[in-house]
Amino acid sequence: MQRTAEVVVVGAGVMGASVAFHLSKRGVRHVLVLEKTGIAAGGTGKSAAFLRMHYTNEPEARMAIASFPVYQHWGDVVGGDCGFTSTGFVMTVLPEDTEALRRNVAMLKRLGAKTEVLTAEELKAVAPSLATEDLVCAAYEPESGYADPVATTRLFLEHAQALGARLEIGAEVVALRVRAGRIAGVETTRGLVDAPTVILLTGPWTPRLLQTAGSDLPITPRRAQVAAFARPAALAAGHPTVIDGALGSYFRSTRDGLTLVGVGLWGGKTSADPDRYDQGNDPEFLPVARQRLARRLPAMGDSPYVRGHAGIYDMSPDTRAVLDGVPGVGGLFVAAGFSGTGFKKAPAVGACLTELIVEGRARTVDLRPFRWNRFAESDPIRGQDEYRLPADFGHKV
Ligand SMILES: Cc1cc2nc3c(=O)[nH]c(=O)nc-3n(C[C@H](O)[C@H](O)[C@H](O)COP(=O)(O)OP(=O)(O)OC[C@H]3O[C@@H](n4cnc5c(N)ncnc54)[C@H](O)[C@@H]3O)c2cc1C
Repeated sequence: MQRTAEVVVVGAGVMGASVAFHLSKRGVRHVLVLEKTGIAAGGTGKSAAFLRMHYTNEPEARMAIASFPVYQHWGDVVGGDCGFTSTGFVMTVLPEDTEALRRNVAMLKRLGAKTEVLTAEELKAVAPSLATEDLVCAAYEPESGYADPVATTRLFLEHAQALGARLEIGAEVVALRVRAGRIAGVETTRGLVDAPTVILLTGPWTPRLLQTAGSDLPITPRRAQVAAFARPAALAAGHPTVIDGALGSYFRSTRDGLTLVGVGLWGGKTSADPDRYDQGNDPEFLPVARQRLARRLPAMGDSPYVRGHAGIYDMSPDTRAVLDGVPGVGGLFVAAGFSGTGFKKAPAVGACLTELIVEGRARTVDLRPFRWNRFAESDPIRGQDEYRLPADFGHKV
């Protein structure tokens, strides 16, 4: 049976869920979310779900800053519990990047982030469990932390459905239908859907779908791992959420007594068809993750490994997302290429795409820097003060 929708949202990860929520809240009728596998089945369900505002470039910082209050006041803005946990967030850098860190914190404050620079001594006073001897200073966000990515996605969708959106699980979009330079709808494993507007929120699967409309977007899949270790009694109350740029790792506590650790884009098995890849941890990854964690959080030195997984990053050439209409195909929009840092920005992405579709222009955050054509125009998103990586960081991409 052929169906119709005003807007088809492809993908029920956190981005599709946020877009469906914001469209529905805005009063757009007949929003249909099509998901081939399940809610949060892609990168979202594997996310470490850090919520921080520290970025080295303004466009991404604006997205994170605009999104953070939604997580903080989730019960009022969306409803229910998205697992938001305020732990404080710490960003460390190599000593040679001290001035870059200071300039970035000044930029973030100017944009409205609650953040400050702490000396190593001040950081030790705020977070006594962290080893700070190798640091000159760090950026600190007292209110940041993490959320539950699956609950976030589920709640966005539940509230979108309560406002009239429809969700179909098990409906894979196999092709985009284009007529006379405009999107006409999609072809799914359950038949055709007619729609004047289609939004692709399909992470690393996006290039494959775009090709069915004759468009190419340079997004490549890349496998990334996270391991969870049991916290000792001394750290039962948790610890700050940390991107340890100085040692090349990131970690946060969980509500159930574990600490999740990732090691940037550490090598191991990196080839990654998003439908067929090793979803477990490589054995060689575990000692690397544990060592880097223990160097910053010495109490975790003997912590047993509990579980872990690998997910897929949707890498763009400048590691920042494309949020735009697809050139040459009216009514077709895309938000992809978040390169492993999209979760925290989902509320703003949903708001911006809704504004773009309904009003023709995003107001929440200026989307121009995220435009499709920026790679062809040699105008990538790049901060003035990007950080160096430690020499033993591993395989850098
Ligand atoms: C290990 C790991 C750690 C991360 N840590 C963080 C972090 O700490 N902080 C942060 O901000 N970000 C983090 N990220 C990144 C963040 O999780 C992602 O940027 C974000 O979840 C992407 O959401 P999405 O909805 O765009 O994509 P996805 O979650 O991948 O969702 C895409 C959905 O589209 C569906 N789909 C694909 N093709 C089709 C089709 N043809 N038809 C129908 N459905 C389709 C898929 O099944 C999937 O459910 C991490 C990612 C990983 C993998």
